[in-house]
Amino acid sequence: MTTDNGGDVRLSGISKTYDNGFTAVRPLDLTVPQGSFFALLGASGCGKTTTLRMIAGLEEPTTGTVHLGDQDVTSLPPYKRPVNTVFQSYALFPHLDIFENVAFGLRRRGIKSVKKQVEEMLDLVQLGEHKRKKPHQLSGGQQQRVAVARALINHPKVLLLDEPLGALDLKLRRQMQLELKRIQTEVGITFVHVTHDQEEAMTMADTVAVMNQGRVEQLGAPTDLYENPGSTFVANFLGTSNFIEAEVTGSAGDDLTLRPVGADGKLTLPTARCSAPTTAGGRVLLGVRPEKISLAHADDATAIPDGRNRLTGRIADSSFIGVSTQYVIEGQAGETLEVYAQNIERDSRLAPGAEVVLHWNPAHTFGLDAAQDAA
Ligand code: ATP
Repeated sequence: MTTDNGGDVRLSGISKTYDNGFTAVRPLDLTVPQGSFFALLGASGCGKTTTLRMIAGLEEPTTGTVHLGDQDVTSLPPYKRPVNTVFQSYALFPHLDIFENVAFGLRRRGIKSVKKQVEEMLDLVQLGEHKRKKPHQLSGGQQQRVAVARALINHPKVLLLDEPLGALDLKLRRQMQLELKRIQTEVGITFVHVTHDQEEAMTMADTVAVMNQGRVEQLGAPTDLYENPGSTFVANFLGTSNFIEAEVTGSAGDDLTLRPVGADGKLTLPTARCSAPTTAGGRVLLGVRPEKISLAHADDATAIPDGRNRLTGRIADSSFIGVSTQYVIEGQAGETLEVYAQNIERDSRLAPGAEVVLHWNPAHTFGLDAAQDAA
């Protein structure tokens, strides 16, 4: 689709092998919907920046094409693409004030009356009152907002952001995440944001592509990726997950029944939430997030409602961290499980050494293929 806002960004079979023979991006297909806030998330070296640079035209793909809407931009140089990039190093001009830094792109195009546009842009990033300051007189977060304003002044169809918050401290980074999200909603253009920080990607993006070794491992809305990861890599990259190895014993209605390996008991998993083969005897890695598990002292086990999955164990360690307490539990089969309990009413019996029952709603689990994807 081509519209005033440029249409979707479409990568088809795009790959990059550098001159030294190293393949940073394996052939991948990716569509970034027009107007979305899209995050490329992955560990250092997985190929996120290379992918971004191929969209910008700063890196020539080895194979494949880049489309913006209906336009094939693969062979266009960066300055001819309706795309702009914000880098981690703000790259502001130190000798120019904030107004002139933002005006730069307009002046370079020979536009004389820049005042209205620059002031609108400074209002958008809430820096109007600082326009006569030099970059070194601003905080890191403010400088980054100038860089965003400067990149937006020429109305690109797509804004690429390469770890733009990487140099900021944690508190400022959180503020800027919300700020960038607000700016994206206001201007309505496509943002493609590269980060290695899962919380940042989940806070800001509508859609996240998790990259691993030059491939897109999984793509989806943050909640889908978190609640329904397709691999242990994605499950572990987006937070902490427990994995319990279990054998399929049969099915009951929409659920699979499983027996935990090396422990007593029966577990239930909705069949629709299992990406592993579901035939009896198959091995499944049942994933459950630490905050989805409730902990009861063994003496209270009879009070646990029916229909909950349950395992027994012993508290090996506990850490009080204010809003929650994080427990490390040694399960019956010798496995280690993490449980995060909200500190609403703390049970003083839940201390290291205590025998406990872990229980959770089967709908809050996911099943992965134990054979293909050992945790
Ligand atoms: P980071 O967060 O550390 O920037 P990234 O996921 O963005 O990581 P890329 O910068 O895309 O990763 O790099 C992917 C891989 O390609 C890395 O192993 C990197 O060393 C390699 N690489 C990047 N640029 C070149 C180059 N010009 N020549 C050879 N290899 C390169």
